[in-house]
Amino acid sequence: MPLVNSKELFEKAYKEGYAIGAFNCNNMEIVQAITEAAKECNSPVILQVSAGARKYAKPVYLRKMVEAAVEDTGLPIVLHLDHGADFEICKDCIDGGFTSVMIDASSKPFEENIEITRKVVEYAHAHKPYVTVEAELGTLAGIEDDVKVELGAESYTNPDQVEEFVKRTGVDSLAIAIGTSHGAYKFRPEQCTRDPKTGILLPPPLRFDILEEVSKRLPGFPIVLHGSSSVNQEYVKIINDHGGALKDAVGVPEEQLRHAARLAVCKINIDSDLRLAMTAGIREHMEAHPDHFDPRQYIGDGRAYVKQLVKHKIVDVLGSNDKI
Ligand SMILES: [Zn+2]
Repeated sequence: MPLVNSKELFEKAYKEGYAIGAFNCNNMEIVQAITEAAKECNSPVILQVSAGARKYAKPVYLRKMVEAAVEDTGLPIVLHLDHGADFEICKDCIDGGFTSVMIDASSKPFEENIEITRKVVEYAHAHKPYVTVEAELGTLAGIEDDVKVELGAESYTNPDQVEEFVKRTGVDSLAIAIGTSHGAYKFRPEQCTRDPKTGILLPPPLRFDILEEVSKRLPGFPIVLHGSSSVNQEYVKIINDHGGALKDAVGVPEEQLRHAARLAVCKINIDSDLRLAMTAGIREHMEAHPDHFDPRQYIGDGRAYVKQLVKHKIVDVLGSNDKI
């Protein structure tokens, strides 16, 4: 099966009440971990590439690795650009074989966001085969590669704008801001309550009222959540127990994401959790085997942790297992 766009995957996900995981990839081991996990779970998957990943690994390596994963697994895989900042980068990816792109003009005024998004949609939809486009309304706090929004400068999506935006742009899916956030430090400690037993920070709940209002206005239309790592504390603990220093790292609780996946949310972006799992595997290996110097040994352990995490996400959070 060749790379696919997200259209049919989202239609099925919407109807059946699950979401497809969009995992960020930066190197071979991460691509392998994600796609092997998806294969074992019989799940469709989105591999997404950010501007930072393009800089780190070069677009051609990323594309060829994803193509290799398609050949290796036979899965329906979407190759998606994460946070395309302008028309040019989207065009470059569409011309380079991506099957889906995100144009993120969410920091621009509403009319400008519409104008840029529409331009990308026109180009993507004229492409053969059809490339799907995601856009964003509202802004998330946090840091993701080149995208940085200070805490406090984020803004929730205004449901009054979504119908006009989708109608005028022709976009295929929409990322909305309902309280998720980029990075491994999603919330300030003072925004959270602390679990008295474990001392772990519990973040404020997602704004499901906004999600419900948006999906009322856009029936059947796929919604996307960015910044949806849960910062699983077992990995944070492994990291900190083996020389790391991640203090008060906090994410979005998995039960809330599972709930969102049953509603209109068809794509959930996960990046930080993969990084944490990879780092946990490598740190644990390094401390247990100070004599090792073959990268395959410690990166291999990192890869195994990422694979285990992705399987957990597919089965327990996204619900996309056995959907092929
Ligand atoms: Zn994002």
